[in-house]
Amino acid sequence: MKYTDYYYERIDIEAFRVNMESWRKEFNEADSVEVQSNIIQKVDEFEREYASYQAIASLNYNRNINDEDAKSEKEYFDSIGPQASEISNGFNQDLVDSKFRKELEEKWGPQYFSQIELDLKTFDPSIMDMLLEETKLRNEYTQLIASAQIEYNGETYNLAGLGPFHKDSDREVRKSSYEARFNWFQDNSEAFDTLYDKLVKLRHKIALTLGYESFTELGYMRMGRSDYGPDEVANFRQQIVDYVVPIVAKLREQRQEILGLDHLYFYDGINYKEGDPKPKGTPEDLVNKAVKMYDELSPETGEFFHKMVDEDLMDLVNRDGKMAGGFCTGFPKYERPYIFSNFNGTDHDVVVLTHEAGHAFQSYESRKQPLASYLWPTMEAAEIHSMSMEFITWPWMDLFFEEETDRFKYKHLAGALSFLPYGACVDHFQHWVYENPEATPQKRKDKWKELEGMYRPGQDYDGLPFPESGALWQQQLHIYQMPFYYIDYTLAQTCAFQFWMRFNNDDENAWNDYLTLCQAGGSKPFSELVDSAGLKSPFKSGTLKDVANEIFAWLETIDVKAL
Ligand SMILES: [Zn+2]
Repeated sequence: MKYTDYYYERIDIEAFRVNMESWRKEFNEADSVEVQSNIIQKVDEFEREYASYQAIASLNYNRNINDEDAKSEKEYFDSIGPQASEISNGFNQDLVDSKFRKELEEKWGPQYFSQIELDLKTFDPSIMDMLLEETKLRNEYTQLIASAQIEYNGETYNLAGLGPFHKDSDREVRKSSYEARFNWFQDNSEAFDTLYDKLVKLRHKIALTLGYESFTELGYMRMGRSDYGPDEVANFRQQIVDYVVPIVAKLREQRQEILGLDHLYFYDGINYKEGDPKPKGTPEDLVNKAVKMYDELSPETGEFFHKMVDEDLMDLVNRDGKMAGGFCTGFPKYERPYIFSNFNGTDHDVVVLTHEAGHAFQSYESRKQPLASYLWPTMEAAEIHSMSMEFITWPWMDLFFEEETDRFKYKHLAGALSFLPYGACVDHFQHWVYENPEATPQKRKDKWKELEGMYRPGQDYDGLPFPESGALWQQQLHIYQMPFYYIDYTLAQTCAFQFWMRFNNDDENAWNDYLTLCQAGGSKPFSELVDSAGLKSPFKSGTLKDVANEIFAWLETIDVKAL
């Protein structure tokens, strides 16, 4: 069956409400664990249908934003979301209160219940209006960013349109385009400050209303974190300061050498004088190369990728009317994932075929998990599959990059390591912000500057007022929209680096461990998943030190002058 053959319908929310009432009655009156388990299965089946139709509606709209029918289907699902959550919450409360809770946990696994419990702790009808207000403020950030109309060299650009100039091989172009960008942020600095101030105070109030001391505790619950807290994360960030920040300073020196510059300013964020490596061939060529790559990698990846191609489960190439960006989604009812992207001729196209394919491979491999909620793990674990696949496919990168393969690998690995301090800085900042909800916008900027000194020493902003003022974080969407999410990328990267090391050292168990991790889906919390894949926890002192040192040793074997 191909994607276009999938059956689709709107979920009838009133029918769902009626069904749920009778399921709940049956569940609560049950005198055996078997009866309750049967109801869990029925609800799960319904959830798979719901998730599949919703994903189809959303995907079809992303594929053609000018299609009015697709738009109205997506809007329909958006409109029933809050009611559906409310109906599900009722059943979830019955589940955690079940008199057979212990037996049910034995049958379905504790993760199902711990995720539901966390979710229930983040909501109470008394905060409904505040949640709506939070959504409104989040949307205001999106609108503010989208409203940017920046004059540059006689043309008008939005922020994304200005992006390519920041990577231009001509330093003057990089500098002047950043100036244009930051002047726009500076002009709107007060709006960004006010918006964030409202969000922080609102989130603090939501947390107090739910009975927590600060938003931090609630923020961790919203992320579904059941097995670690702010102390473990603080220890992880400290490892980044101790072992990664000094290496990133050395990598900056190498980059300065590669670029042939006598000083690096923040706008010298390019990798090579002549521009980044580009994949060779048409989009069709790239897909054919990926077929060969996944066939050779393992029987499992071969089977998976042939299905993606044969069943039309990828929409890769940029075209008019298509939404920007890239993502992986899935249809639990049909046991298939889907990859959406916008190929644009850069090395990013290959990253789609490895990173998004890593997400899709995990989703495909975990399709037999007994519960829909086990199909995807929490976010920090979900990025392990994708970021690791980027490295596991390294032996085939010469198919795509030919004589530029070393340039690609150096950029890929050095870039991934260099990201960690920034990720930790964003996280540290947010912890401080939510522990100090009364701080003024100026105090927040002062704190950011202080943290930048710790995580990104030596950044030279060449006197530009916006970054010099300590406001650079206002460009980071996650800080406004998804509090505490950002550290997840760095936790997952630390795990993916370990797979890089193991494959690089021909560890014969590495593939099986990766496969086991993918098949486990979201059936366990982060720490247990990491452990079951034979990886060391990022929270353990020493893990990052070993990882960072081995990566740097490899990078040093590359003759950067020859790149
Ligand atoms: Zn990802």
